[in-house]
Amino acid sequence: MSAVYLDNAATTPVNPGALNAAWPFLTTEFGNASSTHELGERAATALADARSRVAQALGARAGEIVFTSGGTEGDNFATLGLALANPRGQHIVSARTEHEAVLASLEYLERVHGFEVTWLDVARDASLSPADLEAALRDDTTLVTLMMANNEVGTTHPIPQLAEMAHRRGALFHTDAVQALGWLRVDVRELGVDALTFSGHKIGAPKGSGAVYVRSGLAIEPLLHGGGQEADRRSGTENVAWAVALATALELLPESDTEGPRVGQLRDAFIDHVLSTVPEARLTGSAQDRLASIASFTLAGVGGEAILLELERRGVIVSSGSACAAGRDDPSHVLMACGFSEDEARTSVRFSLSHSTTADDLARAARALSESVAEVSGMGR
Ligand code: PLP
Repeated sequence: MSAVYLDNAATTPVNPGALNAAWPFLTTEFGNASSTHELGERAATALADARSRVAQALGARAGEIVFTSGGTEGDNFATLGLALANPRGQHIVSARTEHEAVLASLEYLERVHGFEVTWLDVARDASLSPADLEAALRDDTTLVTLMMANNEVGTTHPIPQLAEMAHRRGALFHTDAVQALGWLRVDVRELGVDALTFSGHKIGAPKGSGAVYVRSGLAIEPLLHGGGQEADRRSGTENVAWAVALATALELLPESDTEGPRVGQLRDAFIDHVLSTVPEARLTGSAQDRLASIASFTLAGVGGEAILLELERRGVIVSSGSACAAGRDDPSHVLMACGFSEDEARTSVRFSLSHSTTADDLARAARALSESVAEVSGMGR
């Protein structure tokens, strides 16, 4: 029996359609998009076409899309770039449940550039209160950065409401939509954000692909300096093949308006199954405001790492939370920010679904979890 892969929040396989679309630009059509000969011009045309298609998928204009190497670069570029280019002040508002790419960028702004960050409190389910944002905003707040959906526990934030609050006080708003894309509607004008980051390898494009939306007319400081590609916002020879793959993967995503509710039902049935068969399991994240693709639990008294191994032995591949902390054994910073103890945070396990996950896959995963917990805690069940 083949393994059930339920670690799609860590990464997804490349969609063959996206790879096929990219292939010519790795082989015969290998030109440099900045070259003036025909091969180069064809590459430039392909890049422009990919940019328009990405923009179209997000409700943006082509000139508002900057291709990047993925979510980490995008979060760095959007937060550092907007904070450093905006003369309004040196105050930023965010939350400790953000991805490390945002946290570390803001800590860098504090350490090196003298910014001050107000970290909003989050509830035990990782939700935050809009009133807390209102209270945190100041006349010198230059940027608010809050993610659309959390990568470890799946909790979503009401971005349009939060962005409007920031704007009313004159601050810019960036959102990390890396996990939300494909599951929630991502239209930059409906969301009302100034910048939005996403990553290709979470949606069927290759690792090392991604883009940032930057609202037209906004000043943004580049991270990479050099030949002035990407309209002076990101120097370096453009990765035409990955831009084409990204645009194609985006177009191949199923419609989130129907896919979110469909997969959300599978996830809910899975959560019910786990909670009724594994007494140690507690749901983490919000029960209502959560991404369709993520079901995450703590397992009272049962080490998460041991459970991952037992699950893998049973052909179920998951992770303990974020795969992005480069294999470190730290307890989840997200759960710690939600008020869990270090010991509790070390018992977390995250199941993340794809668009092709089936009810049978999830039934198998729930059975494997029950057996694994029994095995690790030394009780027959
Ligand atoms: N932001 C979120 C919410 C993520 O989940 C991830 C990756 O897991 C990233 C940013 C980083 O993206 P990348 O792996 O493309 O650098």
